[in-house]
Amino acid sequence: MFNSLKQLLKGKKKTSKYISCEYVQHGFNVDYEDIKMCCFNCHEGGGRQILIDNYKGEMIDWNKFFKEKRKMRELNRQGIILERCKGCIFLKEREWDDEDYISYMVFNHWTQCNCKCRYCFTNEQSDYFNSRKNYNMYPVIKKLADMGKIRGGGEIGFGGGEPALLPEFEPMVNMFLDCGCDNIRVHSSGVKYSNAIERGLKEGKLTLVVSVDSGTPETYERIKRVNHFEKVWENLQKYAQAQTIDKYKAKTKYIIYPGYNDNKEEIDKWIELTLKAGIRSVVLDIEGGWYENNKYNVPDYMYDLLEYAQKRTQEENMKNVELYDRASHMIQHKEEYIKLRDNVK
Ligand code: SF4
Ligand code: SF4
Repeated sequence: MFNSLKQLLKGKKKTSKYISCEYVQHGFNVDYEDIKMCCFNCHEGGGRQILIDNYKGEMIDWNKFFKEKRKMRELNRQGIILERCKGCIFLKEREWDDEDYISYMVFNHWTQCNCKCRYCFTNEQSDYFNSRKNYNMYPVIKKLADMGKIRGGGEIGFGGGEPALLPEFEPMVNMFLDCGCDNIRVHSSGVKYSNAIERGLKEGKLTLVVSVDSGTPETYERIKRVNHFEKVWENLQKYAQAQTIDKYKAKTKYIIYPGYNDNKEEIDKWIELTLKAGIRSVVLDIEGGWYENNKYNVPDYMYDLLEYAQKRTQEENMKNVELYDRASHMIQHKEEYIKLRDNVK
């Protein structure tokens, strides 16, 4: 791929203000089969440009890696947008520095979990995803840190799988905090308590998102297919108490999942438990598989539910309420999609 990039660059002029994004400049996404530029894929180009194919945790030659990233940056500087970036909302025109360092990282390289959510991508091949061997990223990232090439000011995300089950999770989070990274985001099932998450919350540098999707043990078990409801709320209470600097870093999440938790009573109970745990910030979303299949045919009650959940969080004076991609997309395109839906009928 990089040879063809070289040809594209020939004869183009250098500038420092141009259209690019943070991940092209200073980021990567560690996935379970390769290293990609980012983890975004909702736009026309499809994102997730592969940087290192067929990756299994080998030591990375970071100097070579930066050399390759410079070529990508250079393309953007010349006004060329990568095919996979086309239509991405993260592209923006601004001044970009020309230094080699990493500020944006996403870790998604393991798939084991202590929940079995019905909507999880691992369900399609659960035997494979639950038995595949993790590779250890700690020494690889430690080398980058030792080279002084990790900088704060960006974002570090942990997805997975369940991060707290990952053996290198605790040392990695501690290393990032020691390196001055002040914006770490962890998506956890909340089943296993993590001291590193607690430290990040204490220092106000880590955002924790736990998707409980329910306000009753029955609904929790129907969706998650495990019986850890009480344990999760117990842990959430401890995490909430750890927040000394910023009280809005621990969040509970509710993914509206038609047929399972799509009613106001469940939402009310979830908000009640969230407040009881001492948490004042939440995330709302729509179940991904359902939304992909029904985007142009969303029934009115789903719009109402999302708006209801937002209204309830306002009534309870919750702060930093976030709508993740699909929920935000659904609200933004409500009128247009309803028109399309009703015309088809
Ligand atoms: S522009 Fe979008 S798709 Fe391209 S690397 Fe950046 S975030 Fe990813
Ligand atoms: S908590 Fe996340 S990784 Fe675990 S089963 Fe649920 S969706 Fe999958």
